[in-house]
Amino acid sequence: MDENMSTDSTAERLRDVKNAMAESAVAAGRDGDDVALIAVSKTHDFDAIRPALDAGQRVFGENRVQEAQGKWPAIRAEYPDAELHLIGPLQSNKARDAVALFDWIHTIDREKIAGAIAREIAAQNRNICCLVQVNTGMEPQKAGVDPDQAQAFVNTCQTKYSLTIKGLMCIPPLDEEAALHFALLQKIAKECGLPVLSMGMSADYEKAIAFGATHVRVGTAIFGTR
Ligand SMILES: *Cc1c(COP(=O)(O)O)cnc(C)c1O
Repeated sequence: MDENMSTDSTAERLRDVKNAMAESAVAAGRDGDDVALIAVSKTHDFDAIRPALDAGQRVFGENRVQEAQGKWPAIRAEYPDAELHLIGPLQSNKARDAVALFDWIHTIDREKIAGAIAREIAAQNRNICCLVQVNTGMEPQKAGVDPDQAQAFVNTCQTKYSLTIKGLMCIPPLDEEAALHFALLQKIAKECGLPVLSMGMSADYEKAIAFGATHVRVGTAIFGTR
């Protein structure tokens, strides 16, 4: 593919997503500045990510610690103000690397992980924003705490592990109406008194904004199909 053409199209798609986000915010009676775009760059290399950086995008999401370790040190050397969010499931043996590399972790969902992350934050003297993942669809194969356990788990993270829990994250089931899940996550966050809602992907980020998303995680609509 022609190099310039692909460069242009990522920047254009990024701009289109940002415009659509702003329109959704206005339609929901919200301030567009209250919704952050996390550009999900998983599977894409530095060359594919660069056009987004050069267009001013600074917040990125990756779902695998090891993959992110392979490319982000080089990206950060050139773009030191890039902010990196871990949006994929986390194993406790990856806690050290995750805490060293990421600024946000969206996928705290069990005490073992909460404890491992808390220990590494203390050991590395890092300041990490944490979110609790909620399995709003109660899918057996999916990560996240059950909705009726969420508030107690948030409490445990805060009191027992002193984690800074900013909010909640969910990934709705593929075959269900996403709005129901966004509404549920919004309700639980409100009950917990948490301000951040990480929800909405390429197919449904506009809908998520209507339900109060503060962070949308958009990959395909910016970088193309994986
Ligand atoms: C890949 C991924 C996204 C982005 O999905 P798209 O449909 O490509 O926008 C968002 N959230 C999580 C947790 C992901 O793994």
